[in-house]
Amino acid sequence: MTHSALKVRPRALSTVFLDRDGVLNQKMPEGSYVRSVADFHPLPGVAEAIARLNRAGVRVVVVSNQRGIALGLYIAADVRAIHEAFQKHLEGSGARVDGFYFCPHDKGQCNCRKPLPGLFDQAVAEFPQITAASSAMLGDSLSDIEFGRRLGMLTVFIAGAEEHRSPSAEDARALADLRCPSLAEAVEALLQNP
Ligand SMILES: [Mg+2]
Ligand SMILES: [Zn+2]
Repeated sequence: MTHSALKVRPRALSTVFLDRDGVLNQKMPEGSYVRSVADFHPLPGVAEAIARLNRAGVRVVVVSNQRGIALGLYIAADVRAIHEAFQKHLEGSGARVDGFYFCPHDKGQCNCRKPLPGLFDQAVAEFPQITAASSAMLGDSLSDIEFGRRLGMLTVFIAGAEEHRSPSAEDARALADLRCPSLAEAVEALLQNP
């Protein structure tokens, strides 16, 4: 974390928006999708990082593009089952996600596919206290960082595993306010007191 990055940190961080694939769980190779609970492998340190956010009183919201539904590769119920299994996994570490939101649509057909703001609006509908100014968006794709920037959030690029990085990841890295190797390090940086 650079010194200049500290200046863009929100005064009080109230909500962290997390991308799912590549941030919470192992990203599949480009063009492959997490279709079922069997494909969902939480990354090391993720449960502990979420527990830290919980203990700090920071709301944790997952926002995920799930275009595989539009492509007919899996259905919304599969995504919900994955999120339920992940929540159970987190329980073991005393951690919890406050809300899961996902876009089931193909490109150019909705207002909720990141970087469009629809998933933010859905979260605000459930948690009216959320403001973009007190939120951070953490993700490994350009669509995540653009989503956060357009809304005026602090943005954090999570680098993840090099072999699974998307072609536009370099743009995402350059555009983000902060860059971290993993969720655990991003949470460490966000919760640090200056
Ligand atoms: Mg991702
Ligand atoms: Zn959508």
